[in-house]
Amino acid sequence: MTGATVKDVAPPPTESDCEKADNQNTTGRGLLHSSEKTGSNTVSSMVVKQNGSTIATRSAFSRWSRSRSKKFKKFFVRGQPMNDPGRTTHPDKPGVEQCGAFHKHKKRPGRHKPDTGCDAEARLLYTYAKRQSKEPLDMVFKIDWRNADGNHAIPCPDCFRMMCHAKTNCNVKIYVCNKENRPIELDNECENDDYEGFTRRINKMGGK
Ligand SMILES: [Zn+2]
Repeated sequence: MTGATVKDVAPPPTESDCEKADNQNTTGRGLLHSSEKTGSNTVSSMVVKQNGSTIATRSAFSRWSRSRSKKFKKFFVRGQPMNDPGRTTHPDKPGVEQCGAFHKHKKRPGRHKPDTGCDAEARLLYTYAKRQSKEPLDMVFKIDWRNADGNHAIPCPDCFRMMCHAKTNCNVKIYVCNKENRPIELDNECENDDYEGFTRRINKMGGK
């Protein structure tokens, strides 16, 4: 027999991976304080797959806090620790580590310092893309970002760039689930730094 082997054609992530991550987000929201149920924050979950098999499911909350319960800290990954050499709360630090390189978020309007890697997606990316995996990984994100404008399934522009960094350097494929729980693969938007194009694809009803 010639041609592709089974390993070469590992199936891409499906709606059920998105549903799994979506359910994790619902569980995570249940662990938040009542004051966190409103206001602007993000709960995101990520299914990590290798050769088509799920090897991990992880969740993150944009306002992770060390003072919280064991259950909270067990459920939500912390991401890059505050005392990590790369931690970007300090303007002179290199950024969030991704495969031995550092990705620094841009300074956002209204913030005094460059972004901290506090976003839920940044915490998840750090957890699985800090070191390069020998085998290619699929990372399937379900994002529940809530602010005054409503609920969003898209990453922020900085996390989009961080996802691109991981895709380009870390031997991973990145998928973001849309609101209908279809996984949308991050594609050539990275080469063009086309955040608008990627979010348009995610926001498109039934988008492919
Ligand atoms: Zn972000």
